[in-house]
Amino acid sequence: MSVTLGMCPDCASILANGDSTGIPDDQHETVTTALADTETRWHRDGYHIAYDGEDMGFSWNKCDGCHRPLGGDRIKFVALKR
Ligand SMILES: [Zn+2]
Repeated sequence: MSVTLGMCPDCASILANGDSTGIPDDQHETVTTALADTETRWHRDGYHIAYDGEDMGFSWNKCDGCHRPLGGDRIKFVALKR
């Protein structure tokens, strides 16, 4: 069982590469904190988050990682049941 997640480029960079250096300073803590909470919730439910990489295109939906309501590109990740 897997769940499709649409991540903003900031979250995608952190999840795929462990790289948060591209995030503006005024957003950095918000994004990293929210994304860590998201990961914790998925892990608690027995999932791990895997990189898919498919370009899901532009969306106004909230990012599934940091939940910022910003329009932008979404990159596909999947939450997989362990
Ligand atoms: Zn995000």
